[in-house]
Amino acid sequence: MPRPLHPLPTRPPVPAWKVLLPVLLAGGVGWGAWHAASRPVNPPAQAGAQRISAAQDWEALMRFGPRQTGSEGLSRSLDWAQAQFEALGYRVTRQALPDRVPMPVQREAAVQVSGPGGPQTLNGEALLGVQTAEQTGTLVRLPPGVTDEQLDGLLGKLAVTTCPDGPWRDLTDRALNAGLLGLVIVNDCPRPPAYSPLGNVALPVLSVTPGVGRALLAQVGREVTFITTVRTQDTPAWNLIAARVDAAPEVLFGAHLDSVPGSPGANDNASGVLAVLNAARQAAGTPLAGRAWFVLFSAEEQGLLGSRAFVRAHAYPLRHTRAMLNFDMVGVNAAPLGIDAHPDLLTLARRVRPDLRAFRDAPTTSRETFGRSSSITGRSDYLPFKQVGVRTAFLYRGEDPHYHRPTDTTLNPALAVDAADLGAQLAQAALDAPWTPREPCGITGRNCQ
Ligand SMILES: [Zn+2]
Repeated sequence: MPRPLHPLPTRPPVPAWKVLLPVLLAGGVGWGAWHAASRPVNPPAQAGAQRISAAQDWEALMRFGPRQTGSEGLSRSLDWAQAQFEALGYRVTRQALPDRVPMPVQREAAVQVSGPGGPQTLNGEALLGVQTAEQTGTLVRLPPGVTDEQLDGLLGKLAVTTCPDGPWRDLTDRALNAGLLGLVIVNDCPRPPAYSPLGNVALPVLSVTPGVGRALLAQVGREVTFITTVRTQDTPAWNLIAARVDAAPEVLFGAHLDSVPGSPGANDNASGVLAVLNAARQAAGTPLAGRAWFVLFSAEEQGLLGSRAFVRAHAYPLRHTRAMLNFDMVGVNAAPLGIDAHPDLLTLARRVRPDLRAFRDAPTTSRETFGRSSSITGRSDYLPFKQVGVRTAFLYRGEDPHYHRPTDTTLNPALAVDAADLGAQLAQAALDAPWTPREPCGITGRNCQ
């Protein structure tokens, strides 16, 4: 017999607000607490941090060695710079570049020749920018100062030359354009060649020592094989941004921290880093600190990759930027301190320092312009800012003989401080001068110029 059905006891339903209100209240209190706890704060300024000199900075920075992208030296330099800014009371963030930077980690090269006792291998080094490649052909020797007409007659040949008169890259471009299939440069140059990567060359171009060069020159007229074996590694890179919490980048002090491979990068660009750090030190505890950002860019030497990424990621705050001041090579007196600046900033700079040398930076050639010169000139980190309409000033003391060489080992800290002094005064003048925020323009910069 089935059990009789009894209706279940019922209670009047709880009104929704009785449930929702406590939940909302608890949520609100929790969110408030989380927000308060996670709100960025300025690190406490440390006593004595403002008294550290640029000379002491240089002593610390030089110990980390070359700072090419991906190196231990750069990573230690970043940590050191972060500690310096934090000691001054600035909050530091690191911006990871969206794309990893391909850096060569292996550049082996060889020439196979036939010797009396069978085939022989002579070793060398693939030039930067050369890909893995192999070519066999008849070896010719290029005369010093080889003309384009002479090169034109060498189509399909492999060539060897002793130290070229001009930049290695010039000769390489001319030789490959004339149809040579490979080139060996005997590095019997009086001083090391400047860093000057070739643009993705798919033919074997290499350098050898004078000893190997002598063995190779004995092979002229015979058949030889040039081989390059190159491996790159995709390397992460970071910009370092130091600013007081809630400060807008009304003025932005910038310099690149990376160096070219194998160079301690004293003038290029530890000097600029010293200048930016010194400007941050001067600003600490003053109203300028609340209106400035201090940025150390990465991967400048690979084509302004850090500053390009910075401009792309900070399009909105950059609307407030009255002046971007870029410091590159300001620690060696190749020429008096020079400025390439927006006309408004040039006028202000002249008021601050009437004898300041004005110059026009060379046009850039990069992957972005495909070898053509852009109508906007600039070869350092201020260029991406200029391209989106930010007023820029580039402070620079000219190219010294050690530029992009392993011998770029010394700088004068007083010269970096002098550039920082001008930068701080120019920043103040730009903040005092009337200014209307510019209209936002597309992050590609196309509608800005
Ligand atoms: Zn530089």
